[in-house]
Amino acid sequence: MPTEVVMPSHGPTAQATPKGNPTIKKGVSYDIAVIGAGVGGYVAAIRAAQMGARILVIEKDKLGGTCLNRGCIPTKSFLSDVKPLYRIRSSSLYEGKEKLTINVEKMIARKNKVVEIMTKGVASLFKSNEIHWIQGIATFVDPKTVEVLTNGKKDTYRANNIIIATGSRVGTIPSLSIDGKSLLSSDDILDIQKIPKDMIIIGGGVIGIEFATIFNALGTEVTILEMLPTIISTEDDEVIRGLKIILEKQGVKILTDTRVTGASPTKNRVIVNIQDYSGKEEQLTAETVLMAVGRVPYTEKLGTEKIGLQVEGQFIKANARMETNVDGVYAIGDVIGKTMLAHAASAEGIVAAENIMGKSREIDYRKIPSCIYTFPEVASVGLTEREAGECGMDIQVGMFPYLYSGKAMAIGEPEGFVKIIGERELGEIVGVHILGEHATELIGECLLAMHLEATVEDLGEVVKGHPTLSETIMEAALDWSNRSIHLLRKG
Ligand code: FAD
Ligand code: AMP
Repeated sequence: MPTEVVMPSHGPTAQATPKGNPTIKKGVSYDIAVIGAGVGGYVAAIRAAQMGARILVIEKDKLGGTCLNRGCIPTKSFLSDVKPLYRIRSSSLYEGKEKLTINVEKMIARKNKVVEIMTKGVASLFKSNEIHWIQGIATFVDPKTVEVLTNGKKDTYRANNIIIATGSRVGTIPSLSIDGKSLLSSDDILDIQKIPKDMIIIGGGVIGIEFATIFNALGTEVTILEMLPTIISTEDDEVIRGLKIILEKQGVKILTDTRVTGASPTKNRVIVNIQDYSGKEEQLTAETVLMAVGRVPYTEKLGTEKIGLQVEGQFIKANARMETNVDGVYAIGDVIGKTMLAHAASAEGIVAAENIMGKSREIDYRKIPSCIYTFPEVASVGLTEREAGECGMDIQVGMFPYLYSGKAMAIGEPEGFVKIIGERELGEIVGVHILGEHATELIGECLLAMHLEATVEDLGEVVKGHPTLSETIMEAALDWSNRSIHLLRKG
């Protein structure tokens, strides 16, 4: 972490310390009240304030919600810290590497510092946008009134519109209770003091495999238990296969078709009961168990039933305009469970804010990317090849392996590929799937291409700097029409 951060001379400085909350005006009716200041809620509040709305944000915990405090940012801070360790340990170039260790206390302290800077940034943005915010638990009284409980004291606030952005919390399996000691949630593990010798991760979704990457790099023997036939089951089949091979090569053990039915901590180890697809039961043990079986919407104490809010499963139901069934009440982010990702929550927040302020916007989930920060990364947007086939689309696929990229080879990252799925006749970009170093950055240009309705051929015609990883996008796009320069000729 650099001690001095170079900042532009304009715009909000991330390090600026807020000088306190603008005075909350009692009895004033706000244009919009936002419940929850995660990446959904705080972005919605800022966008509506930019458009002239008077806003009140109510947050029961810390500004920034899951993403800043317990999700995206802390995990990416850890992944960045352990990556050099992983690279050095897995290379034959470096000598004396057996002695290399990481100072876990400092790693956690750096993560905490990053989180502090980011959350202070949100407070500064609120101040500069004249957004009022209060700490407390919000409960609906009626569709335009919330009661807020702060330190045992209750106040009520009125707003013409209310945006619910209350997010999600860690999910568990019924027969298992997280004790925060050896059976941990993704919240607990962010402050783990001692690197365990071995760890079982229950759930091979995004959160599970990112923590597997972190702890594998730290030297822990990691086993992932996943009840479905594959890890990261929503990704393209080739990406799933490729990443599984890479993770296993890195030393992560992956047991799929393996359902965890219970776990009980004993003095030194946690016993985990598993059941395979045929129903056969077995026990495994580990020093630490991480629960990563998904997240559940957070609606506790919100009083949704008081205003007759419609729910789907446990999630609040909202349409593409982010409207709920109750007039003037909108819902965004993890609590609606459409795409439980930070950038989706923010995009939904902007749609809600703009609709309230008189625009007419709808969210387009087909153009929201998914990013996984393993070594190497995974990024995708649009349909998988299987989904395109199931929709009966006439498609053509372009592929380019990292192995044939000069940049990927030069930086010692030859694993992975870019796969572009395009509609055969007109070349509409249907899906892009990248497994490889910096995939999460590379997907950006594909998103822009999709946004501008460019074709696969357009992606192939852009002249790229050399050597860059972005050349792999161009080559995969060229391969779509059998014109890749750096692939051997087919047939
Ligand atoms: P949240 O961020 O959960 O915010 C909701 C806020 O509402 C909370 O602060 C909560 O305290 C508050 N609240 C709840 N109820 C009330 C109430 N009644 N009154 C007042 N306040 C209330 N996504 C990515 O895109 N990229 C990643 O790399 C990524 N990594 C992740 C890693 C982990 C370990 C986890 C757990 C998640 C990760 N996610 C990632 C998912 C991402 O964090 C969430 O999708 C995102 O935070 C959802 O934002 P939100 O605003 O809907 O909810
Ligand atoms: P996600 O929903 O992406 O956060 O991933 C959570 C993963 O946990 C999914 O792939 C689920 O299939 C998996 N999962 C849920 N319950 C269990 C269980 N009891 N045992 C093993 N894996 C589970």
